[in-house]
Amino acid sequence: MERPALDRASLQSPYADQLNQGFVRLRFNGLLEKEFRDFYVTQNLPRGRLALLTALGPLCVLALIQFLADEPNHPLTLWRVALVPLIAAALITVYVPAAKRYYMGIAGTTVLLGGGLITYFSHAEALAGGANLLAAQTLVVLFACVFLGLLFDIATAIGAALLVWHFAAGSLLGVGWEDLSYSGAILATAVAAALITTYKLEHVLRTNFLEARLLNSLAERDGLTGLYNRRMFDDYAKRVWRQSRREGQVLAVVMVDIDDFKVYNDLYGHQAGDDTLKKVAETIGRCAKRPFDFTARYGGEEFVLLLYGPPKDYARSLPEQIRRDVMALRIPHEGSRAADVVTVSIGVAVAEPGTSRSLAGTLQVADQALYQAKQEGRNRVVVMTTDDAEVETGNFRVRFRGSA
Ligand code: GH3
Ligand code: MG
Ligand code: MG
Repeated sequence: MERPALDRASLQSPYADQLNQGFVRLRFNGLLEKEFRDFYVTQNLPRGRLALLTALGPLCVLALIQFLADEPNHPLTLWRVALVPLIAAALITVYVPAAKRYYMGIAGTTVLLGGGLITYFSHAEALAGGANLLAAQTLVVLFACVFLGLLFDIATAIGAALLVWHFAAGSLLGVGWEDLSYSGAILATAVAAALITTYKLEHVLRTNFLEARLLNSLAERDGLTGLYNRRMFDDYAKRVWRQSRREGQVLAVVMVDIDDFKVYNDLYGHQAGDDTLKKVAETIGRCAKRPFDFTARYGGEEFVLLLYGPPKDYARSLPEQIRRDVMALRIPHEGSRAADVVTVSIGVAVAEPGTSRSLAGTLQVADQALYQAKQEGRNRVVVMTTDDAEVETGNFRVRFRGSA
C-alpha cells in the first residue's frame, strides 16, 4: 500500500527547513539527501546513457582491440582489462532499473580509470615524439563534470585525482618539469572551470528539487493545521479501503469533532479558535503514531483518522487517548456544555473484513457514532461496528448538523 510521501504527523516540512537552512556544501540533512540522490540518478539516466554510448562505447571497443592486439604482459594491459568490464557495468546501471543506484560509483570509477589511461598514454606518446594528446584530458574532465552528470563531490574527487596522476605519471615516465607544469596548469584550469559550473548547476537543481517537493506537499496539506487535507483523505481512503478488503484487514474510521466550537469562536474570537484548532490537530497527530494511521482535517473543526488493521482494542483506546489528551490541554471554554475546557466528541466505525458496507457506508456509520456521542452529552467516544449500526440512507450529515 503506497502512502503519501510525507510523514503525516509532521507539521513542518523538511523541504522548507532545508531551504531555509541552505546547503552551501551541497548536502541535505538525513534522509533528504538519499531522496535527492535517488531522484537525481533517475532524472539523469537518459543523459548518462547518451554519454556512455556516444563516447565510452567506442572507447570500450578500442580497449578490447588493443587488449587483443597487445602482448599479455604489456604494462598497460591491466588498465584496459579493468576498463572493459567497468564500461559494461556502467551501461548495465543505466539500462537495468535495479542497478541504477550503482551508476554514480561505476560511472565515476570508469571515467577515472579512462582518464588515468589517457593521461599515461599522452605522456608516453609525447615523450616518444608523437602527437601531444593532452587535450584529451580536458575531454575527460568534461565527461566527469558535465556529460555523465556526476554529482559535484564525485566530480571533485575525479578532478583532483586526475591532477595528481598527471604529475605522478609524468614524473614516473620522466617528462620534463617545465612541460609537466605547463600542461598541468591547463588541466587545473579546465578542472576548476568545470567544477564551478557543476557546483552552480547542482545548487540550482537541488533548490528546484526542494521547491517542487515543498509545493507538492503544500497541495496535500491543510494550511492551518498541517494535517493532510480533505482531498488527500478522499484519495487515500479509496485506496486503503480496497486494500483492506483485498487483504481481509479491519479498517476503522474515526471522526473527531470539537464540542461547541461555534460558541468558542463567539466567546474568544476567530484567532483564538484557529490556535485551538492547531493545538487539537497537533494532539491528534501525536497520538496517531503507527505507520498505518492516517490523519486529516475533514473540514471546519472536524478531523478524521483511518486506522488500517488496528490491533485489538486500538480502535477504542486510541480515540479515548485523543479525547483525554485534548482535555488535558486545559484550554478554557466557558461556553461548553460538556466541560469548562475544550473537549472533543469522537465517533468510530469499525469495518470488519466481511462487512457488506461500502466506504461511503462506513463513513456514514462513523458519522452516526459521532452523532450519538454528541447526543449522549459530548466529550466521549462511541464505537460502532458497521454491521450493528442502523444507518438510514439520505442526508444524515444534514440532519446531524441541524440538531447540534
Ligand atoms: P457541536 O458540539 O455540536 O459540534 O457544536 P459546534 O458549535 O462545534 O458545531 P457547529 O458545526 O455548529 O460549529 C462549528 C464551528 O466551527 C463553526 C465555525 O465557526 C467553526 N469553525 C470551522 N472552521 C473553522 C476555522 O477554520 N477556524 C475557526 N476559528 N473556526 C472554525
Ligand atoms: Mg462540526
Ligand atoms: Mg463541533
